[in-house]
Amino acid sequence: MNLKKTMMFGTIGAALAITAFTSDKKPQNKKPENKKPAFEVSCDEFADLQVLRYQIPGFETLTPKQKELAYYLYEAANSGRDMFVDQRYRYNLTVRKTLDAILTNYKGDKTSSEWKNLVSYAKRVYFSNGIHHHYSNIKFVPTCSYAYFCSVINQIDNAKLPLGGSDKNQFLVLMKSVIFDPNFDAKVVNLGSDVDNVAASANNFYEGLTQKEVEDYYNSRISKDDLTPISWGLNSKMIKENGQVSEKVWKVGGMYSPAIEKVVFWLQKAVEVAENDKQRLALELLVKYYLTGDLRVWDDYNIAWVNDTESRIDVVNGFIEVYDDAIGKRASFESVVSIKDMEATKRIAAIAAEAQWFEDHSPILPEHKKKSVKGITAKVITVIQEAGASSPSTPIGINLPNANWIRQQHGSKSVSLGNIVKSYNTIGAKSPMMKEFCISQEEIDRNAKYGALAADLHTDMHEVIGHASGQINPGIGDPDQTLKNYASTLEEARADLVALYYVYDQKLVDMGVMPSLEVGKAEYDGYIRNGLITQLTRLQLGENLEEAHMRNRQLNASWAYEKGKAENVIEMFQKDGKTYVKINNYERLRELFGELLREIQRIKSEGDFQAAQALVEGYGVKVNQDLLKEVNIRFKKLNVAAYKGFIQPKLVPVMVNGKLVDVKVEYPNNFLQDQLDRNKKYGFLPAMN
Ligand code: ZN
Repeated sequence: MNLKKTMMFGTIGAALAITAFTSDKKPQNKKPENKKPAFEVSCDEFADLQVLRYQIPGFETLTPKQKELAYYLYEAANSGRDMFVDQRYRYNLTVRKTLDAILTNYKGDKTSSEWKNLVSYAKRVYFSNGIHHHYSNIKFVPTCSYAYFCSVINQIDNAKLPLGGSDKNQFLVLMKSVIFDPNFDAKVVNLGSDVDNVAASANNFYEGLTQKEVEDYYNSRISKDDLTPISWGLNSKMIKENGQVSEKVWKVGGMYSPAIEKVVFWLQKAVEVAENDKQRLALELLVKYYLTGDLRVWDDYNIAWVNDTESRIDVVNGFIEVYDDAIGKRASFESVVSIKDMEATKRIAAIAAEAQWFEDHSPILPEHKKKSVKGITAKVITVIQEAGASSPSTPIGINLPNANWIRQQHGSKSVSLGNIVKSYNTIGAKSPMMKEFCISQEEIDRNAKYGALAADLHTDMHEVIGHASGQINPGIGDPDQTLKNYASTLEEARADLVALYYVYDQKLVDMGVMPSLEVGKAEYDGYIRNGLITQLTRLQLGENLEEAHMRNRQLNASWAYEKGKAENVIEMFQKDGKTYVKINNYERLRELFGELLREIQRIKSEGDFQAAQALVEGYGVKVNQDLLKEVNIRFKKLNVAAYKGFIQPKLVPVMVNGKLVDVKVEYPNNFLQDQLDRNKKYGFLPAMN
């Protein structure tokens, strides 16, 4: 259950993450007459969210056949989007279809604040692919009243609503709990150490089961001696009916069949225009997997996908990341369609080419080092389309496949999402965050000069030499199974620490990928500031850390702070009632990162659950509530959105005599309308009542 994706805000060389923040809204109707208007990155803001846009530079340079392939993969991606909504929560599609019906059909007053609050709620639901916050996983409720909601629903035709078998009144009673009661199915993923992680999570992966029942079910199937273990549970829902435990597999003819049939339809078209034999084989295996639900075929597909390194167009499509399952077995649907950026790939490729050097010089114990680091291919991609778990909120780096044995025996692919990062940078250039949370002008200047590069390098190394490094002791089996709810956090911590250790290494200067160690300092400034202070802007008072990346960042930063305290490596102090951090000794901080990396690698290599629990619970979970309160006040004054996501471009085929001859790109700028369009066009799954 490694989390092989990097999210914005956090790796934060400084610039990016923290800066991915400003909202510079320009009036839409004031375009200069004879000048092509600049591409507007920001397009909407509501609650704690900002919606951005990205462009697809280079799309027009693709051959007609490559464009055709991209278009089919685009349709395959969108065809699966309903699945993710349903996976997050069993009533999500019901709520979404209800909101679709309201927004499309309501004829009453649209100027009242109640209406505006309802629209804002709808946007939040669309953004989060459901009624729980996309990042905190906690349920959010509308700011309009239930009585108002009822009055609106009562004006909508029954036939337009997803009533199922119930009448309107019964439906409204259900919606009262589902939408308006914050305690009803409060959390999608509950990683708490004192609860049943399966039963307490509201996701739609299990029904009627306890964590123990699930673990028993799989323990009897998993052999620690298996060198090519299957990712059990990855593509199914697990249910208990009449005392019997069974899996409802997501495949053609199984659960989610109406959506998967469409995905398969478009993938089969893609097979016909594949760029080469390796890509064709991979796509054929993906189709076979969706048809059979066979997880062995999924492994075969991943191996074929790793081997396809020459294609210009690439795609991630499947049930991939396991963030949404508290015990990390079941995966969420996602898709990313992309073009390889030939120029930007040179930097990341330079790091990949030195992967063995980095492994050899790593501070981890010799027995945990890979003797030969296998085929890490790294590239910068230009995203064409994202769907499911990767949209609207997106990763900025992805490293797949997830199965450890495939990574070890066949290698992995690492990508950095270049055009997404570019949009973040555009919006972040004027962030007020730096001024508020940096203690010195020197730090602000260093960030302005090197922050973007530092963040790029961090992402590159996190993906290429971070996740890909280290080896598991013989007889341990899959450490992710042993480390359970701590595996994701530690895996992210490990990858971050590799990046942190090397971003302050002369090696990178010698390689020509950064001009000086100042880049490393900028990265350390940003990482520590974020891990100890600024990432708290994402929490509400009373909350502790849940999300794996956030846990990992606090873990790394606060562990280094604690261990370096006697030597005053990192200082944390108050000035004018505001808390700041300052790094006094960058060299020593680097050593501390190295020490922690060695320990976390040991935990993973040995599958040491006790140590994993102690480390994560000790450093990565609890939040100083006084500090949180202060940060919330400071952040609120800045008036910037804490989370960002993207509206996706549209690909439009140009047909002549029923034949696709070209593909045009459109960049929608109305988030709500775009969501309504896609909900309708790709609404393949029924609501659940
Ligand atoms: Zn990662």
